[in-house]
Amino acid sequence: MSNVYLSENITGLKGIGDKTAKLFNKCGIYTCGDLITYYPRGYDKYEAPVRACDLKEGIVNSCRLTIIGNVTRRHVRNLSIVAFEAADQTGRVKMTFFNAPYLASSIKSGTTYIFRGVVRKKGNFFSMDHPKMIKPEEYNSLMGTLWPRYPLTKGLTNNAVIKAVEQAFKNVGKMEETVPENLLKSLGLMSYFEAARGIHFPADEEILERARRRLAYNEFLAFLLRLRLLKLSSETIENTAVMMEVADVKRLLEKLPYKLTKAQSDAWNDIMNDLSGKSVMNRLIQGDVGSGKTILAMMALLTAAANGYQGALMAPTEVLAAQHFEGFKEMIEKYGLVNLKPVLLTGALSAKDKKEAQRQISEGEVNCIIGTNALIQEKVNYKNLALVVTDEQHRFGVRQREALAGKGMNTHVLAMSATPIPRTLAIILYGDLHISVINEMPKGRLPIKNCVVGTSYRPTAYKFIKDQVEQGRQAYVICPMVEEGELDGVENVTDYAQKLKAALPDSIRVEVLHGRMKPAVKDRIMEAFAAKDIDVLVSTTVIEVGINVPNATVMMIENSERFGLSQLHQLRGRVGRGENQSYCIFINSSDSEEAAQRLGIMNKSNDGFKIAEEDLRQRGPGDLFGVRQSGEMIFRIGDIYHDSDLIKAAANDADRILSEDPDLSSPQYNVLRGLLSTKSANFVDFTTL
Ligand code: ADP
Ligand code: MG
Repeated sequence: MSNVYLSENITGLKGIGDKTAKLFNKCGIYTCGDLITYYPRGYDKYEAPVRACDLKEGIVNSCRLTIIGNVTRRHVRNLSIVAFEAADQTGRVKMTFFNAPYLASSIKSGTTYIFRGVVRKKGNFFSMDHPKMIKPEEYNSLMGTLWPRYPLTKGLTNNAVIKAVEQAFKNVGKMEETVPENLLKSLGLMSYFEAARGIHFPADEEILERARRRLAYNEFLAFLLRLRLLKLSSETIENTAVMMEVADVKRLLEKLPYKLTKAQSDAWNDIMNDLSGKSVMNRLIQGDVGSGKTILAMMALLTAAANGYQGALMAPTEVLAAQHFEGFKEMIEKYGLVNLKPVLLTGALSAKDKKEAQRQISEGEVNCIIGTNALIQEKVNYKNLALVVTDEQHRFGVRQREALAGKGMNTHVLAMSATPIPRTLAIILYGDLHISVINEMPKGRLPIKNCVVGTSYRPTAYKFIKDQVEQGRQAYVICPMVEEGELDGVENVTDYAQKLKAALPDSIRVEVLHGRMKPAVKDRIMEAFAAKDIDVLVSTTVIEVGINVPNATVMMIENSERFGLSQLHQLRGRVGRGENQSYCIFINSSDSEEAAQRLGIMNKSNDGFKIAEEDLRQRGPGDLFGVRQSGEMIFRIGDIYHDSDLIKAAANDADRILSEDPDLSSPQYNVLRGLLSTKSANFVDFTTL
């Protein structure tokens, strides 16, 4: 965007010195523009205060009370505790503050405040810890408004972010429109400026939803324009690497311990038709977690190899690439697939090993290259690459596809994804990929046993994990956050692992895994888990895709109310992959009826398509950001399920814009062109969580 103030450093803002700036930097905020696009995770609504007798346990309440009696100050070990009581005609509430000794002097008996906080009940007594104390006049002016709740880091307060965002808007002034007015009008969308402000400081829920939709449209339009600009139309690209069916595949199928399901066979026929057809393959295989996509990848790669070509298998993470490589090697040996010669190529290789792998690739000593994005981004000279298989396609953003197209590789592309997006949307979001659906699971799997429980169930769950580990199994525990302080009331892997270690016998080996670790460290931990050197892995959602450790039989998900159902389904897919009975424990930390109902769906179904449908049906516009959507195509604001109408509109608009101006060169698209290279146009890489 051309507004120069957007790129101004936040250190120019009032109240942000070097120290505070570092905290903001930790959240990825460097400029005023970053602040403006630092979207809240949720909103607080200041409701009319209730009477003491109407307080509800377990949730945030606002209550108008007068301080009575004396303030007490105590010390328990290192903790200083300030406590007092406040009351109205209908009851009294005990207020407690920890490590806030300065409070004691400012609390005066007889003063009235609105106390706002989570209410607990002990016996007949209500209590609040660390309630906000707001003067009644001030509360009146807040009532009915929505206050943004930002993702935070330790030391950074929500108030500090609010102030910084307010200042950023002041400095930046009015922002330019990003999209031609006529498109906005026909969709009834608000201006970009209104939306950018409205997402932070909405006057009410209706404006919030309108702001959200406008920003979602921006994201979709930018995404689709980039996709269209790739001009990846496979129809027009001639198949110069025609491949015939090979005996190797037939032999492999005869030796496999199982028969392909009908759905797998059908998908394979589609693939073979493409490979042997007139134009280059551009196909998406969509199949639920565990439906058996890897074997199809292997069959395609084997076909390429036996036809004398090289093929590549790209995985979204190094961990997954390494795992595919090991799996392939094992099968090659077991089934005598002598024509398939694999090599691993990831960023984690030493310089020497990488060089050797590159030599083998360029000289054609290997014909099955397995790796990560390094494949695309580094200088790899393929001898005769004719097929690229991408596993867990949703992790491959526009950027990766651009890189591939930029190399002028008119290779066959086979993309594999576990995400159940409706066909109409898949066609739009994946450009012109053809789609094969695997809508059938291999026979004879033990269905995963599920339970949705409250936090009080934890001791039982730990005992269960202990028993499973003692039987030789392994477990995953998922927490949404990496470290303390990011969000109130949400578990983080760092502290949780300590808690868990204390609760389990010393003999049980607990490790932490999260996306902020160095790739090599992540790899080492995943390898150790796969090798059974770790019993319990406390992880963020980095393990979400593809990982296959069949010996793991327990998946326990903390704060599961915070995840989208499709994402929970992906996480659950990490267990139930072996012969042992597997279990998934969803911990629900919320008291809301809605959350309980939503999570109930996980109890009822193990079918990803059904879950996605139900998820969509149950989620109203009220759950703006409270629920993170599935791992697929995470746009920062847009939700591919909820906003499917907007995606379709954006697709039409992208086509219309490009038909008039194929390279967006006219001045009216200046701002829009700038948008294509900003963060919002990309997939969010949630491996950084
Ligand atoms: P995903 O579709 O999630 O990538 P995988 O390809 O990893 O699933 O397959 C999961 C497991 O199912 C693997 O251990 C694989 O060997 C096995 N499998 C694949 N196809 C079949 C089948 N037709 N019958 C039985 N097991 C199968
Ligand atoms: Mg897979």
